[in-house]
Amino acid sequence: MNQDYDVVVIGAGIAGLSAAAFISSGARVLVLERESQPAYHSSGRSASVYIEGYENPVVAALTKASGDFFRSPPAGFSDDEILHPRGGLTAAKPGEEAVLAKYIERWGPLCPSLRAADRDETLTLSPILRPESICGGAWDPTWMSIDTHALVLGYQRLLRKNGGTVVANTEITALNRTGLRWTVNTQEQTYQCDTVVNAAGSWAGSIGEMVGLSKPLTPMRRTGIILKAPDEVTSWPLVHMLSGDLYFKPESPGLMVCPGDETPTVACDAQPEELDIAIALDRFQNYTDMPIGRPMHTWAGLRTFAPDRYPILGFDKSATGFFWLAGQGGFGVQTSPEMGRLAGAIVTGKEPVPTELDANRF
Ligand SMILES: Cc1cc2nc3c(=O)[nH]c(=O)nc-3n(C[C@H](O)[C@H](O)[C@H](O)COP(=O)(O)OP(=O)(O)OC[C@H]3O[C@@H](n4cnc5c(N)ncnc54)[C@H](O)[C@@H]3O)c2cc1C
Repeated sequence: MNQDYDVVVIGAGIAGLSAAAFISSGARVLVLERESQPAYHSSGRSASVYIEGYENPVVAALTKASGDFFRSPPAGFSDDEILHPRGGLTAAKPGEEAVLAKYIERWGPLCPSLRAADRDETLTLSPILRPESICGGAWDPTWMSIDTHALVLGYQRLLRKNGGTVVANTEITALNRTGLRWTVNTQEQTYQCDTVVNAAGSWAGSIGEMVGLSKPLTPMRRTGIILKAPDEVTSWPLVHMLSGDLYFKPESPGLMVCPGDETPTVACDAQPEELDIAIALDRFQNYTDMPIGRPMHTWAGLRTFAPDRYPILGFDKSATGFFWLAGQGGFGVQTSPEMGRLAGAIVTGKEPVPTELDANRF
């Protein structure tokens, strides 16, 4: 196998694959993945939702900029639609009227479809909400479900079409700059390249440390639970409590429930904690009157954040040819087309890194 590349991307999650797909239009690209399949970690464990009014204005702009790609990807990218209508209801508890008004005031200008829903409409949009636990809400019909599986396959198709390769079961164990090039060591092989793209998700900090670089990245665990739900569940919107302590959304074959947890942890193969599952089910029972049985499935994944909750992007000024693509938090899927495009444009020198995303801000 060829051991000489322009760019080696570390990690075949949504970040590494999207970047590789774009970079490979003008460079020889190899993606190395430690696990046996792409998207084994965070990218395969997300809620797969597209929300334009999410997290902060920078993330909102990246998400909006990704919308066109999702709606009309390049020819041959996917046989299926990537986005599916869902609708999003943000529900407020009695006493949260002022916070709800502020939420609409904050996101309304960025999301023109967002509007207030009174208590009756909120309960019509989500009939399982307990009337006594709701004072009203905000409705945004533009919230979508993302077919993450199709997206992961599509980025790989694009990469392969451009002559790029993904190699799984391959852990990067050392990185060294020798002369003008990088040497990338795995257990079995040594590769040479001009540019290393660090898209190692929750392990991006450890990859940086291999070359003496440090970034304040914190992996945080989040829990998901699938409950059996009535057949009509498929037409329900995503319901998000304004307080952020619960959301639920249809997820074949049932209803996904998430307690909105953010528990700082080390990078690992995250597993759900019994306590987080119990908290989620307790909240779900308090906010809704849907009967619940034993969860059909539970899981956990890591969302990795920089302190300002903006992604970390661009070449490190202290290490020539070392490119950061990290800190995608809870928005790495919905921002992947624009983050991938930016990575491609910056690595190939066509665009400067946007100041607010610049890896060198830390
Ligand atoms: C419960 C949950 C819900 C979420 N919901 C949403 C949502 O609705 N919408 C949204 O946009 N985002 C959501 N997210 C966030 C999203 O999943 C992440 O932002 C995204 O998956 C991060 O992608 P990544 O490629 O950076 O990381 P990962 O998918 O973790 O990929 C990193 C890869 O690097 C590999 N790697 C690490 N170290 C090495 C090494 N030394 N050698 C080789 N390979 C290595 C890992 O094995 C891994 O496969 C959610 C996350 C969770 C956990």
